[in-house]
Amino acid sequence: MTSPHHTRRSTVRAALAAAGIDALLVTDLVNVRYLTGFTGSNAALLLVTADDEEPGRAHGHVDKATDEADARTRFCTDGRYTVQAQDQVPDLPRLIARPSDVALLRGAPAGSVGFEARSLPVAAYDVLQAVARERRRPVSLRTTLDVVEGVRLVKDATEIDALARACAVADRALAELIAADGIRPGRTEREVGLDLDRRMRELGAADPAFETIVAAGANSAIPHHRPTAAVLAPGDLVKLDFGAIVDGYHSDMTRTVVLGEPAAWQREIYDLVHAAQAAGRAACAPGATGDAVDAAARDLIAAAGYGPEFAHGLGHGVGLQIHEAPSLARGSASIMAPDMCVTVEPGVYLPGRGGVRIEDSGVIRPDGYHVLTTTSKDLRVL
Ligand code: ZN
Ligand code: ZN
Repeated sequence: MTSPHHTRRSTVRAALAAAGIDALLVTDLVNVRYLTGFTGSNAALLLVTADDEEPGRAHGHVDKATDEADARTRFCTDGRYTVQAQDQVPDLPRLIARPSDVALLRGAPAGSVGFEARSLPVAAYDVLQAVARERRRPVSLRTTLDVVEGVRLVKDATEIDALARACAVADRALAELIAADGIRPGRTEREVGLDLDRRMRELGAADPAFETIVAAGANSAIPHHRPTAAVLAPGDLVKLDFGAIVDGYHSDMTRTVVLGEPAAWQREIYDLVHAAQAAGRAACAPGATGDAVDAAARDLIAAAGYGPEFAHGLGHGVGLQIHEAPSLARGSASIMAPDMCVTVEPGVYLPGRGGVRIEDSGVIRPDGYHVLTTTSKDLRVL
């Protein structure tokens, strides 16, 4: 059976062939995880060679050879991860060596070897250049940008399933928090945030997807407020932006609730953001640009006179990272495509008074945007 990781490597190989690159040195740990399944927290690298088809080769062994021009896709880590690599990367030759980048470059096929310019430090690049010059059969290092990230844009079924489970954990944690009267006057933002994080962990999250935002009263007008000792009070809007990590995938959702009957201005901006979020979801279909999806929500908010009060992009990709491509924002040329996973999260923030944001994570299908976040978006009065 072909593993999703094998399929992803094949897709990267096609991208390398199209770019005229003979091998890619993958140094970004998230990309290494994506292509191999290895979850170690550091010191793992991968060399993907363009002409390696993988089947038919002797795999699943510790690989000592570093012959030049062997043209094999190889995984490399150091001795601390020997057992973990054996468990998680059984389908590739594994090299145990450090520094891993030098070892992999020594064994790379002759020709052009791409490196990931966003993640390779300049100091490491200088060392690799020296190694490239020492080799009998020459290699030239080639700058690459977003080769693997480009493949990660469109999610496979394994990824969408993990993201859906991450969303379900966050949905359930919020439902339990509300059912336990966890969002009430007298509690601090910090207490509410810790309570929500604990519930997500108990429901199976490896971690919160990012530092949970709980913003009450005037703080809710700060888009990325960090929870403080501020005490929730009757009449406050309380904005909660949070997510769970499940199998490496990050969910992201925001709900804004109100403590007691909403004031007219609170109801007004809530209804506006609610309508803008629906417009954004409706526009988020294959073929649309990130700019157009953003505009669908933004135009509605601007028409109501709150354009300047929506001062961030409409959404972003989610996956192995909490913020990844594509971007749904003004000027974004990203084209939406089936199986991309993105957030839709407009907001209106009135400084000194309060703000509302509503955010779902979802997946783009041929017929449009499908939410993975299932919590109701009706205004919740607590
Ligand atoms: Zn969020
Ligand atoms: Zn977000």
